[in-house]
Amino acid sequence: MKGFYGSYGGQFVAETLIPALDNLENVFFKLKEDDEFNKKVNYYLQNYAGRPTPVYFAENLSKKYGIEIYLKREDLLHTGAHKINNTIGQGLIAKYSGKKRVIAETGAGQHGLATATVAALLGLKCTIYMGSIDIKRQQPNVKKMKLLGAEVIEVTEGSQTLKDATNHALKDWVTNVENTHYIIGSVVGPYPFPEIVAHFQSVIGTEALDFFKNGNIMPDYVIACVGGGSNAIGIFRAFLNENVKLIGVEAGGVSDKDGGNAKTLNLGRPGILHGALSYLLQDKNCQVLPVHSISAGLDYPGVGPEHSFLKDSGRVEYVSVKDKDALYAFRELSVSEGIIPALESSHALAYLLVNRDLFRNSKVLINLSGRGDKDFIIVQNILNL
Ligand SMILES: *Cc1c(COP(=O)(O)O)cnc(C)c1O
Repeated sequence: MKGFYGSYGGQFVAETLIPALDNLENVFFKLKEDDEFNKKVNYYLQNYAGRPTPVYFAENLSKKYGIEIYLKREDLLHTGAHKINNTIGQGLIAKYSGKKRVIAETGAGQHGLATATVAALLGLKCTIYMGSIDIKRQQPNVKKMKLLGAEVIEVTEGSQTLKDATNHALKDWVTNVENTHYIIGSVVGPYPFPEIVAHFQSVIGTEALDFFKNGNIMPDYVIACVGGGSNAIGIFRAFLNENVKLIGVEAGGVSDKDGGNAKTLNLGRPGILHGALSYLLQDKNCQVLPVHSISAGLDYPGVGPEHSFLKDSGRVEYVSVKDKDALYAFRELSVSEGIIPALESSHALAYLLVNRDLFRNSKVLINLSGRGDKDFIIVQNILNL
């Protein structure tokens, strides 16, 4: 069925949005085959964002843990995370389809920042929706977005976080679709959004696979953190047909109790959120549960539909680590390699370090989705810095 990954995905939206989604689908699949468009995307990825990013062999950490650890360095990109891969691609979709305005939702502010950045670059008007709670805990990113010329709209409803910001962005898009493109920030939302974001993020895995093929080696495992799931899909896709074990790490938060974690694929069950059918953290009355993670970027009750499919098919294993494990990995990578990782990415590394015995002597590729500067305010008190 069109727009589904196995039985997940689809377009569970108001009828008024269907023509906009159909139109976006047509535009995207045409541009994807357009040489001039792809040249433009690659031009900005290279000269503006800093691609390709290296695969770095973490020698010190490898010695210490008895595992060959490789890091895909998305943390080196402009604006500090993999998000820019997607916003460059979608910003250019807006430009090519004659839209003068882009909107986005944001949680931690990383996607808002990457969207505001590309809007400044391409001369597009920009509105970012953000929950009140996130605005309070992510002030530096809010100020950066404003500096870049974006309007930041505070969402005071519901949990006042990413879920509610997404609802408002979808509403804005329905109303202003004539002149506005909605740059969704992960492999979520109604089709074709999950496919568009996966397409622009798949450069991560393509580059990583090239690195290993050129060295005539192959990792035994690829590990990535999963919030909505875009950095994970971005690195997994290239390895799906290789003899490599794939592991997605969710935010275990502080406990398995309702509201204490963001373990969507481990504790959720299928339901509809933001226009797609996928695993979802919900109570027995199908109400979306509150979530918690120390990393705002993983603090989302849903997950991209392709992950639900990959879970059920068994191709990817989904696990979780707790906040405290992520903090442990955050410190370990900083001390051992001089690389301060994002708290999100620290989850991927934490699964490896905490379960080191499972991985002894194997080659493991970790997707280092972003850098940790943005997390400093949160981390400094906990780690007594
Ligand atoms: C936003 C973010 C994530 C989570 O989003 P995904 O779509 O799951 O990749 C992970 N890492 C970093 C650094 C982020 O900024």
